[in-house]
Amino acid sequence: MVNQKRVVDNFIEMVKISSPSKKERKMADYLTKVLNGLGLEVSEDNAGEIIGGDCGNITGFLKSNSKNKKTILLSAHMDTVVPCEAIFPKIENDIIKTDGTSVLGGDDKAGVAAILELLRVIKEDKLEHPNLLIIFSIAEEMGLLGANVFDISKYNIRYGIVLDNASKPGRIVVEASSLAHGKLRITGKAAHAGLAPEKGINAFLVASKAVGALRLGKVDFETTANIGAVHGGEAYNIVMPELEMLYEARSQNKQKLDELLKETFDIFEKACKDEGAKFTHDVKIIANSFALDENEEIIESIQKIMKKLSLPFEKTKSSGVSDANIYNNKNIPTINMAIGTSKVHTVEEFISIEDLVMDAKILVEFIKNYED
Ligand SMILES: [Zn+2]
Repeated sequence: MVNQKRVVDNFIEMVKISSPSKKERKMADYLTKVLNGLGLEVSEDNAGEIIGGDCGNITGFLKSNSKNKKTILLSAHMDTVVPCEAIFPKIENDIIKTDGTSVLGGDDKAGVAAILELLRVIKEDKLEHPNLLIIFSIAEEMGLLGANVFDISKYNIRYGIVLDNASKPGRIVVEASSLAHGKLRITGKAAHAGLAPEKGINAFLVASKAVGALRLGKVDFETTANIGAVHGGEAYNIVMPELEMLYEARSQNKQKLDELLKETFDIFEKACKDEGAKFTHDVKIIANSFALDENEEIIESIQKIMKKLSLPFEKTKSSGVSDANIYNNKNIPTINMAIGTSKVHTVEEFISIEDLVMDAKILVEFIKNYED
């Protein structure tokens, strides 16, 4: 049976382990130890070397002990956004939050906690289960970097559950957008702003000629674009030589995203050419969209479990991306399950004990009712 005290204690212990993206080593070592203790075959891949982090994705494999021999993927990410240098969690009125100086990191340690509690219940209650592949990924928050380089081809997976959606338990994400992001850079030319401004090319002025023509914000019902930050310039008296913009675009429709990106780059290209400046960018597609078929087995199975637990079942579309995009792109039907985290990516992040425990209950019920 799911043990509330154990889930909460374990969650608190894990959120205190600082694990910003690419610096998940302590969390990886912690999970390796726990998974080993629970009898899983544990391994760490070389994702850290590939992406420049201090550890790889941690996987645990638990071999089937029943007639059900297929493999189910369960996954959550180890990294959290900043600030997360030192985390001081506290419980008030059955809500877990921090002292306000850091994120909580319930995104995604609530997901990790649910998976670990499932494994503990399996062991304690000797539950029958299929093959379980657990992936604790790295650098999800930097653009799904860990999952992206994980070699999943050696496993034959029936379907997957990613636990990483910030809404109330009961909801599952069955469709998510494509996402592209990166820096747009305009390189002009520096000159003394008072003595010889005509010898310079002001990158800001060049940008202003392009920006008005861009499609930003809600481009259409399934497409968005944003310039989230602008950096450039040195001083009052220097013509701004360079300007960098953080750009992102999302769409449920991959073709629309490709077209929007091309249009955006062309606009900057032209403005730069007209003014004698140079345009470069490193915008990349981070993940492609997915849309699960309505009749997908995982949707039907999880719906039954939500009903059994009297949770309001809901299928949703998300404009956010998660490791579920990557696994779906690799042809593993994968849902992203809501885990009850709130105000994620802020220092006000919180989760209720009720939801945290419910996440584990959903997984336990799912395994109890599982059939190949
Ligand atoms: Zn997350």
